[in-house]
Amino acid sequence: MSTKDPVRIEQLNWMEYEARMKEQQPVVFIPVGALEQHGPHLPMNCDELIPREISEDVARTINGLVAPSLNYGYKSQPRTGGGNHFPGTTSLSAEAMILSVRDVVMEFARHGARRLVLMDGHSENTMFIIEGIDLALRELFRDGITDMKILRIGYYEFTSASTEKVVWPDGFPSWPLEHAGVMETSVMLYRRPDLVDMTKLATDVPAQFPPYDVYPVTFENLPTLPRSGALNSAKLATAEKGKLMFNEYVSGIALAVTDEFGLGKKLK
Ligand code: ZN
Ligand code: MN
Repeated sequence: MSTKDPVRIEQLNWMEYEARMKEQQPVVFIPVGALEQHGPHLPMNCDELIPREISEDVARTINGLVAPSLNYGYKSQPRTGGGNHFPGTTSLSAEAMILSVRDVVMEFARHGARRLVLMDGHSENTMFIIEGIDLALRELFRDGITDMKILRIGYYEFTSASTEKVVWPDGFPSWPLEHAGVMETSVMLYRRPDLVDMTKLATDVPAQFPPYDVYPVTFENLPTLPRSGALNSAKLATAEKGKLMFNEYVSGIALAVTDEFGLGKKLK
């Protein structure tokens, strides 16, 4: 039987939540994911599960809170996620994505949160998260709330050069080509091996794309797109590499958050 998790916002009752917001001014993490195909060997929730579990571990070390994830992301693009035409990939329009972020940020502001982290696991979301943050901050400023600080984090940007050499000894391909590649597969092998099937690794990779986009996105228009949906091989993935990367993300992000929000210093 699982027990109540003190970092999960939705498991608190509203009075506990109100008291923590007032008395502790906790950092609130909002994981932002996607429901997106990740090749034949991975489940479709990698982009939500990984940033959520990182957020939870960071929140445990700094007494923060983790909000329910934004589970759907902006439309998958062929050169970064295979494309939105794959069965299973289920996405939001730009407007819906932007307004979801804006609304959630403004709701947490209404509860008294002044320190937020948008923890993104799906690169297509980036500019729409930024737009949602910007719209929320403009409205909050007009309402006289000027002390809100928000971090937007793509967790994989915390990969160090030394880890890169260990994980990709033959050279790092690129983050776009890492869709369903070594990083995501390794982290999933470390955290949720029950959801990974290494016997199903794609053989039709790596992807090679022209340096431009073609629309509409169809397999006909994209003859070099791997039919598996994986953009590179994950055969170098191991749980040990996943542990190395996951722990680096948690410790690096915990440091950044502590520094940016001046945790440890007395609250104003
Ligand atoms: Zn992914
Ligand atoms: Mn993605």
